[in-house]
Amino acid sequence: MTKMTPKTLKNVRPMGAAATELHIVDGRFAASAGEGAEVIDCGGRILIPGLVEAHTHLDKSLLGLPWYRNEVGPRLIDKIDNEREVKVSLGLDPQVQSERHAILAMSHGCTHIRSHVDVDTHHGLAGIEGVMATREKLKGMIDIEIVAFPQSGMMTRPGTAELMDEALAMGAELVGGIDPCGMEKDPKGHLDTVFALAEKHGKPIDIHLHERDALGWFSMEEIIERTVAHGMQGKVAISHAFCLGAVDRAYVAGLQEKLAENRIHILTTAPAAAPVPAVKELSAFGILVGAGCDGIRDTWGPYGNSDMLEKAMAVGQRNGFRRDDELELALEICTYGGAAIIGDEGYGLEIGCRADCVLVEGETLAEAVVTRAPRKLVLKGGDVTARDGKCVVEAP
Ligand SMILES: [Zn+2]
Repeated sequence: MTKMTPKTLKNVRPMGAAATELHIVDGRFAASAGEGAEVIDCGGRILIPGLVEAHTHLDKSLLGLPWYRNEVGPRLIDKIDNEREVKVSLGLDPQVQSERHAILAMSHGCTHIRSHVDVDTHHGLAGIEGVMATREKLKGMIDIEIVAFPQSGMMTRPGTAELMDEALAMGAELVGGIDPCGMEKDPKGHLDTVFALAEKHGKPIDIHLHERDALGWFSMEEIIERTVAHGMQGKVAISHAFCLGAVDRAYVAGLQEKLAENRIHILTTAPAAAPVPAVKELSAFGILVGAGCDGIRDTWGPYGNSDMLEKAMAVGQRNGFRRDDELELALEICTYGGAAIIGDEGYGLEIGCRADCVLVEGETLAEAVVTRAPRKLVLKGGDVTARDGKCVVEAP
């Protein structure tokens, strides 16, 4: 994008505070905008930093296609096997699908996405190539970070680890992983491969862990052990982490202590029908927490609008939040939490921060979360990317 005109946001309430003026110069918040700045009257609305979608799957959504009738079996492996086949029968183009998905997210105020992208022996690197093309196309309008994700397994599908290696060499930013026991049935093989790839490429890790209770605890302990052995403190994230939502809170507390000690981050998708990590507890332990919508409108499930305010509400509902400070925490997870995990240092509304921000409706932050009205204005680096709930670019 071309250099933006300086802007002054007047009558704006940063994080729900009293109305003030904010200035944007060269894509960043500044002390003043000088003569000739474009003045935008924000009508007393609340300004928050850009929403951060920290766990999704841009290559999977069926947005823009005819309705997919879901008759998939109940097990994780049913969904995985079905999807690999359906991608072929529907002729899914990961570039087009990821662009549609990213534009929908932008329309809701999202400025950053971390997307897991499938790498398997059936589809090779087509997903990675497609999402990378979308990232290039939307450059400057949204930041997209790619996790090379062995959705169909590495131990169970020989040849996948080599493709993961290629994906990372091509520019995927993180190494993904998936249920080392429940799916791979070889925790040592899977996790040793994940950490070896991370070490070889000098890249961080984000592992899907759906395993519940004792099985999940076992895998988590194996992840913690390798994080220490490889000196990867601060560079490992665990997505879903359903096992932290287990009933045995004493055991979970011990695990959370170890996660905090090794600066392992947690990304919750706050699904409606699985145990979820208790985000308030995690935050109290000092663990960074982010959130994501996970896959939306795909062969896994029919739900999702790629709206991180909606996800903030889901985080609140799944965690039994009612108080305003609790809803503020849910929103913080969907903004600052995800940004810290992604490692965006210029994030925020302070002077010097990149002007990635969203005008939301509501008297307070809590009201903005529960109302989830169409976003009045979304800026990325000071440029408008969406207005009144509509992205400035058309989806393909
Ligand atoms: Zn996922």
